[in-house]
Amino acid sequence: MRSRSPSEERNLVKIEKVLAPNPGPFTGPGTNTWLLDSGGVVIIDPGPIISTHRAAIEATVGDRKVLLVLVTHTHPDHAPMANPLARHYEVAALGHRPGPEFVPDRVLTDGEIIELGNDRLVVIHTPGHSDDHLCFLIERVLFSGDHIIGGTSVMIEDAKAYMTSLNRLQRMDLARLLPGHGPEIEEPEAVIDWYVAHRRQREEEILAAVLAGATTVEEVVKVVYREVDPALHPLAARSVQAHMEKLASEGRI
Ligand SMILES: [Zn+2]
Repeated sequence: MRSRSPSEERNLVKIEKVLAPNPGPFTGPGTNTWLLDSGGVVIIDPGPIISTHRAAIEATVGDRKVLLVLVTHTHPDHAPMANPLARHYEVAALGHRPGPEFVPDRVLTDGEIIELGNDRLVVIHTPGHSDDHLCFLIERVLFSGDHIIGGTSVMIEDAKAYMTSLNRLQRMDLARLLPGHGPEIEEPEAVIDWYVAHRRQREEEILAAVLAGATTVEEVVKVVYREVDPALHPLAARSVQAHMEKLASEGRI
């Protein structure tokens, strides 16, 4: 058998999306479960335990061999189905650390390379949205989880870590982002730059609100997020708190 050229190898990577039926203010249209086939299927973010979603994933896999189940992070809209699905396929479920509804069979660390049948996947630790957040890179395609999502910004738990993780992606040559929610992103550079600018702008607005007399997270949210749907204010509060912690650690408030 002759060996394959790099371009032929690339054609052997097939990516499919199965949308979980869990739409809402925190999840947009629902969680994107990604199926990456490169000489065997890798299931990324199988999502919450919903029987119809599980059936849809299994139907999309069909009779192909499953290699692994991966989670970008352990939030309840991404990870709870990982262990049951991995058991079903008799493969490992991997992530950065255990969470409330997820126990990794092995812990993944930054820079680790996962060999697939026809390609390799690189693990990139991107803390900020959550401490345990990973992105997965194959060629120039990045599975971005909730680090960057389609169509809007994300809640952040640690503002400093989040900016560092964004800056890291800015230095990478990416062709496409496949996010945990929303449509896929064809212009990664522009979107990542917007994310950086958006966070800087929010931080300035939060600083201005505090300097103008707001003393609690709730008061800052009311001022800074006045044009945002109140259903999203609990998420906004988490992000505001993260920015206030960063500003305090920098001695700015
Ligand atoms: Zn999510």
